[in-house]
Amino acid sequence: MNLNFVAGKTFETIDPRTGETIARVSEGDKEDIDLAVGAARRAFDHGPWPRLPGAARAKIMHKFADLIDQHIEELATLDTLNAGKLFSWGKAVDIPSVANTLRYFAGAADKIHGQVLKMSRELHAYTLLEPIGVVGLIIPWNFPSTMFFVKVSPALAAGCTMVVKPAEQTPLSALFYAHLAKEAGIPDGVINVVSGYGPTAGAALTSHMNVDKVSFTGSTEVGRKVMQAAAASNLKTVSLELGGKSPLLIFDDADIDQAADLALLGVMHNKGEVCVAGSRVLVQEAIYDEFVKTLVEKAKEWVVGDPFHPNSRVGPQVDKKQYEKVMSYIEHGKREGATLLTGGKPAAKKGYYIEPTVFTDVTEDMMISRDEIFGPVMALMKFKTIEEGIKYANNTKYGLASGIVTKSLDIANTVSRSIKAGVVWINCYHGFDIDCPFGGYKMSGFGKDFGMEALHKYLQTKAVVTPIYNSPWL
Ligand code: NAD
Repeated sequence: MNLNFVAGKTFETIDPRTGETIARVSEGDKEDIDLAVGAARRAFDHGPWPRLPGAARAKIMHKFADLIDQHIEELATLDTLNAGKLFSWGKAVDIPSVANTLRYFAGAADKIHGQVLKMSRELHAYTLLEPIGVVGLIIPWNFPSTMFFVKVSPALAAGCTMVVKPAEQTPLSALFYAHLAKEAGIPDGVINVVSGYGPTAGAALTSHMNVDKVSFTGSTEVGRKVMQAAAASNLKTVSLELGGKSPLLIFDDADIDQAADLALLGVMHNKGEVCVAGSRVLVQEAIYDEFVKTLVEKAKEWVVGDPFHPNSRVGPQVDKKQYEKVMSYIEHGKREGATLLTGGKPAAKKGYYIEPTVFTDVTEDMMISRDEIFGPVMALMKFKTIEEGIKYANNTKYGLASGIVTKSLDIANTVSRSIKAGVVWINCYHGFDIDCPFGGYKMSGFGKDFGMEALHKYLQTKAVVTPIYNSPWL
């Protein structure tokens, strides 16, 4: 771990409830990335971590998880202060889940093995699954803790060493995790956290010749740059978890109450700052009017307020830039001719709060139905037939997530096979589980976080071949 950065520069980190500075954080740049990668390289090439038996790595990972459990309150506080996330959610769900993510992958650390191959000739061969090396992990601000551990945990289990670049908006919990890692006994050089900006620290990591892989979560626009930098440097492998504009399809036979609750949960959860937000809600025409009435009523339950307050369900957007971006999309929606059903205004005089917003009469060509807004803004559309619903759902460059609300197994089966997205939630939304692979189709990226597929992103296969006896082998 190296928290003393070379140039001695710092940047402000703010509390989105007020816009006020809460701390100044070291600003890492290219030289710091170089030092961090050097430490990770030495730890990988000569240090104990990749050479430890899996069970020994697992033991340390369990200790790390236990330390997180002992600091749930502080960690949830940091993510609320820094990202405006609901404290009650962080304490009950986000932080306990990251400890469990570590435990899940710790359970895999001693089960990493290759295969014995039945060759077609008189050769004996087997494969070794080896850690890929030094990995660069670049994460966004919307789930600072979750994102840190969906990448760090499988990389640790695989035996990799790593440099983590948290988002510049939310560096605080990542720095605390670096401290806990040391306390848990993770050897020096294995986890290096460099806080700093994307175009400087992030770009230096993606183009570094000594980094073997980059796992990136963030916008599609930056994902493209990450891939270009990897291609232009050492052809490091890349996995990308990118943006989305996910559809929720509600069919005529749906329970309207349940459907309205799911639609609101889909896009208002975490104030809409969720990559899988169900921001396009497509409703079949026979129930459309009744659905809209129910939705508007239920939208009132999404109380905007201080994320530390137990009654709040929608906190502030992460910063001024994000707040202004969301407000400008709302203005666009109005100008483009969509009807504002509810919300659409700032929700407080201070801080970056926005009312839960629902537009209807949205058409496929409008910006609010095409672009990822990343805020509490729902675009409602009507469809006639199942085919038309599928067509609307797939009319996006993204393919991250989707949802279906129906009582019909036939509709659920047909539609889930026709949607081009990495996950289809049927009669639920945000149904995440650490055992369930998660990642995008199309311009939402490639490579899975969660599940055993995530572990394999940090491993590579080596074949070892030998003649069985003095047999012909050429
Ligand atoms: P972003 O792409 O601006 O930034 C993400 C990270 O990349 C940050 O750490 C940033 O500093 C870094 N970065 C920026 N420019 C870089 C560069 N040139 N080289 C290397 N790194 C660079 O995204 P954001 O605004 O922080 O997050 C919101 C986006 O993330 C949304 O599009 C959202 O959908 C996406 N997201 C996706 C998932 C997923 O699992 N698919 C999860 C969360 C967020």
